[in-house]
Amino acid sequence: MLKLRSDYRPPAYLVTAAYLDISIFDDQTLVTTRLELTKNPDAGTGANEMRLNGRDLELKRLSIDNIEIAKDDWPLDDAGIHLTNLPENCVVESLSVCHPETNTTLEGLYLSGGMYCTQCEPEGFRRIGFYPDRPDVMTIFTVRVEADIAYPKLLSNGNLVETGAASEGRHFAIWHDPHPKPSYLFACVVGDLECAEDSFVTASGRDVTLHIYVEKGNVGLTGHAMDSLKRSMKWDEDRFGLEYDLDLFQIVAVSHFNMGAMENKGLNIFNSKFVLADTNTATDTDLHRVESIVAHEYFHNWTGNRVTCRDWFQLTLKEGLTVYRDQCFSADTHDEGVQRADDVSLLRAAQFPEDRSPTAHPIRPESYREINNFYTATVYEKGAEVIRMMAAFLGRDGFRKGMDLYFKRHDGSAVTCDDFVAALADSNDIDLSGFARWYEQAGTPHLLVKRVDDGKSTITLDFEQTLPETAAKTPRNPAPIPIRLGFLDAAGHPVATSLTPDGVSADEHVVLMQKATHRQSFHAASGAGDVALTPSLLRNFSAPVVLADDLSAAERLHLMAHDTDRFNRWDAAQTLAADAIIAAATGGNSLDADAAALSGAYRNILGEADLLDAFKASMFALPGVSVLESRLNPADPVALYHARMRLQAALGDGLSDIIAAYLKDDVRHALQASDGGRALLNALLMLGVAASSKQAEDIAAAQVLDANMTLSQGAVMALNNSASAARDVGLSAFHDRWQDNPLVMEKWFQMESMSVVGGTVARLKTLMQHPSFDPNNPNKLRAVLGAFMSGNPVHFYAEDGSGFAFIADCLIDIDGRNPQISARMVLPLTRMSAYDDGRKAQMMAALRRIDKAKPSNDLAEIVEKALAANS
Ligand SMILES: [Zn+2]
Repeated sequence: MLKLRSDYRPPAYLVTAAYLDISIFDDQTLVTTRLELTKNPDAGTGANEMRLNGRDLELKRLSIDNIEIAKDDWPLDDAGIHLTNLPENCVVESLSVCHPETNTTLEGLYLSGGMYCTQCEPEGFRRIGFYPDRPDVMTIFTVRVEADIAYPKLLSNGNLVETGAASEGRHFAIWHDPHPKPSYLFACVVGDLECAEDSFVTASGRDVTLHIYVEKGNVGLTGHAMDSLKRSMKWDEDRFGLEYDLDLFQIVAVSHFNMGAMENKGLNIFNSKFVLADTNTATDTDLHRVESIVAHEYFHNWTGNRVTCRDWFQLTLKEGLTVYRDQCFSADTHDEGVQRADDVSLLRAAQFPEDRSPTAHPIRPESYREINNFYTATVYEKGAEVIRMMAAFLGRDGFRKGMDLYFKRHDGSAVTCDDFVAALADSNDIDLSGFARWYEQAGTPHLLVKRVDDGKSTITLDFEQTLPETAAKTPRNPAPIPIRLGFLDAAGHPVATSLTPDGVSADEHVVLMQKATHRQSFHAASGAGDVALTPSLLRNFSAPVVLADDLSAAERLHLMAHDTDRFNRWDAAQTLAADAIIAAATGGNSLDADAAALSGAYRNILGEADLLDAFKASMFALPGVSVLESRLNPADPVALYHARMRLQAALGDGLSDIIAAYLKDDVRHALQASDGGRALLNALLMLGVAASSKQAEDIAAAQVLDANMTLSQGAVMALNNSASAARDVGLSAFHDRWQDNPLVMEKWFQMESMSVVGGTVARLKTLMQHPSFDPNNPNKLRAVLGAFMSGNPVHFYAEDGSGFAFIADCLIDIDGRNPQISARMVLPLTRMSAYDDGRKAQMMAALRRIDKAKPSNDLAEIVEKALAANS
C-alpha cells in the first residue's frame, strides 16, 4: 500500500510511559508491553482508537486497565491490534511471542553469532512486541531483560537500575532511559561479550562511562573506535555546544547487520566491520570510515534522538543533517580538501545515478510503499549537500545560531524538515523559503555557465539552470544555487574582481542564482591592467549540480596547477581524465596527447613541496565508470572501463621515471610512514603496474603480505586487474594469511569479485561456496555481489546478459531471507536508461524474472518501478 506524506495525522493517543519485559529462551522470546496511554490533545476530536503495530507476533494475552480481553474478542488483524472505544487514560498490556532464533530479516530481535541483538529503525520494533511503532510517539522506557546465565550481558538503553537472579539458572537486568524516545531507538543486546572500557568528562563535568562490547577475543581491536568516540564527543561540544546526556554510552559490534550502524539511545549497535579495526587488519580508508561512522552515530544523540522525525518522510531531517555534521567533523579532524573530494566522489558515484534512475526521489519523498527503500544516497548525501548550501549561506555563526534555536524549540519532540529550516531562517531573520524547493524536487540540476564577453579586465558570465525530468515527476522550478567562484590570471595568481565597476574587490564571490537564468559581470581591480581571466567555478562544490562550462583543456590544466581552491584543482583533474577516457571509449582516440598533458600536470603536482601527500593521492583517483557513463547516452560501461585502464597505463608510462624514483627503497620507506604517503604510494603503484613496470610488479608482489593492511591491500589491488601470474599468487597468499579472520576475508572476497581477469560469474559461484562465505551475512553478500556490480563492469555488464541473470537468481534467493538486502542490491539492475537496447533488454528480462518469483514488498516496490519506467 502506498503511503503519502500528505496523509499524516497526529497519533490519537500518546504513551506516557512504557514498560517492557523481554524474556529470551532458546526456542522463543516472550515480550510484555505495558503502555500507559493518554488521549493526545493535539489530535482533534477523533474516535478513541489506536493501533498497536505487530508483525509476525503471536499474541498470548491482552488487557485494558488490568481487565483481560477474551481471545475471541481480540481486535487483531495482519498489521497488529486495533483498539477502539478506549477511555481517555488507560493502561494496555500485551504478552506476545517472537522468534529471534529463526529471524533472518535482521530487523526486530535476532540472533547473530550467538548474540541476541535488535534493529528497530524504521519499523523493526513491531517484530518484537505490540506497540504504536511510529516516530512521533515518544515515551520513557523501562525495560526488564531476562535470559539464561549463559548470556552474561543483558543490555538496553539508558541507565542500569537493577540486576538479579531469576528462576532456574536465569538472570535479569532492568534499564531505565530518562529521555523520551520513539520505539525505533529502542535496543537490547544479550550475549557473552567482552568489554573495552574508557571514560569521558563532558564540558560541564559529567563523568561518562564508555563501553564497547565485542565478541570474545576482539577487544584488542576496539582502540581506534574508542578514540574516535572521544574525539567526536569533544568536537560536538566545541562546534555545536552539544554534550552527552547520560552517564553511560555503549557500543556493541555485531557481525550480521543490514546497515553500517544504528544510533539507539545510549546503546549504539554497529556492524562489526565499523568497530573492529587496526592497521594490520584495516586500511587507512577503513579507519577513517570507522571514525566517521562512530562520529555519525554519536552525533545522532542530538540530531535524531533528542530531536527526532515526526514521520519517516522527514528522514533527511536527521540523516542529511547528521551526514553534514560528520563530514564537518572529518574535515576538521583531517584535511578539508581531501574530505570534500571524497564526499563529492561519493555523491557523483551513488546519488547522481539515483536521480537518473526509476527510483529517483526528492530528499523528502512524497510517497513510499516500504520505507526501508528510502535509506538512500539522496536522503543522506544529497540531504547533506542541501544543509551545506544553507550553512554556507548563513555563515558559520549564523548556522550555529540556527542550530541553537532548533534545539531550544524542539528538544524532546518529533518534528519536520520545515521546522528545521524555519529555525535557521528565524534565528538569522532571513528568508530561506527558496531552499524548500531542494526538499520537494527530485533530480540533479544542470548548471550551464558561458562567457558572453571575454573582455579585457572585465568578464561577463551567463548562468542557466535546468532540472531534468525524473521518474519521480516532481515539480521542476528553479531552486537557489549558490555559485562560489573566482578568477586566475595567466600566471595562476588570483585576480580580485568586483561585481560593479566601482564596487569592492574580492578574490572570491558567491553568486546566488535564484531564477532559471542569470547574468553577472566581474571587473578586475583597477591597476590590474589587461588580464586574461580563467574562471574557477563552483568552488568547493558549492551546490550539488552537474556543471557544464566553456573552459578549454588548457584552462583546466591551468586550474589543476594553480587554483587556490583545492577542490577545483581536484575537479579539473577529474574532468580532464573523464574527457580523455570518453574520447578514447567513443572515438577510438589514442589517448597519447591527453595522457601526455595530464602526465605533465601530475609531474608538477608531485613536485609541489607544500601540497599534502594525501591530497596528491586523491588527485590521482580517476573517475569511475558510474560517473563516466552519466555523460553518454547510450553508454558502454565495458568500453569505458577499458579506456579508463588504457589511460591508467598511459599515465604510468608518461610518469615512469618519477614512479621509479618514488618506488626506490629509501623514498618508498619514508612514504610508508604516514597515511598520506601510503595513499600516494598506492596510487603510483597502481599506475606502475598498469604500465607493466617490472619494478612496480615486483614491489607489489612483495608487499602483498606487508604487516600494514593499507600497503598489503594496495598491492593486491594494483595487481588485481593485471594478467600477470603475480595476481593469482598475491590473492592466494592474502587468502591463506587471513582465512581465519572473517572481516579481512571480506576484502579477499571483494577483490576476487572485482577482478576483471578473475571475477567471472563461474568464479563468483565458487566464492559463494567458500567456507568463509555466509549467505545470511549482508557483509559477505555485499563483498561478493555488491563488489561485482559496482567494481566489475566487464562481467556484470557482459553483453550476453549472464551477469544480470546471475544477480537476478541470487536476489530471488536472498529475498526469501532478507528483503532489505535484496531490495538494496537490485538497484544497479534498475539503472538501465543510459545503456544500449541490447543491455536494456537483458536487464528487463532479469527484472521480470524477479517479478515473477513474487518478491517481498521491499523488492517488489523497486522492481515494479523499474519495469514501469522502462516499458
Ligand atoms: Zn544516520
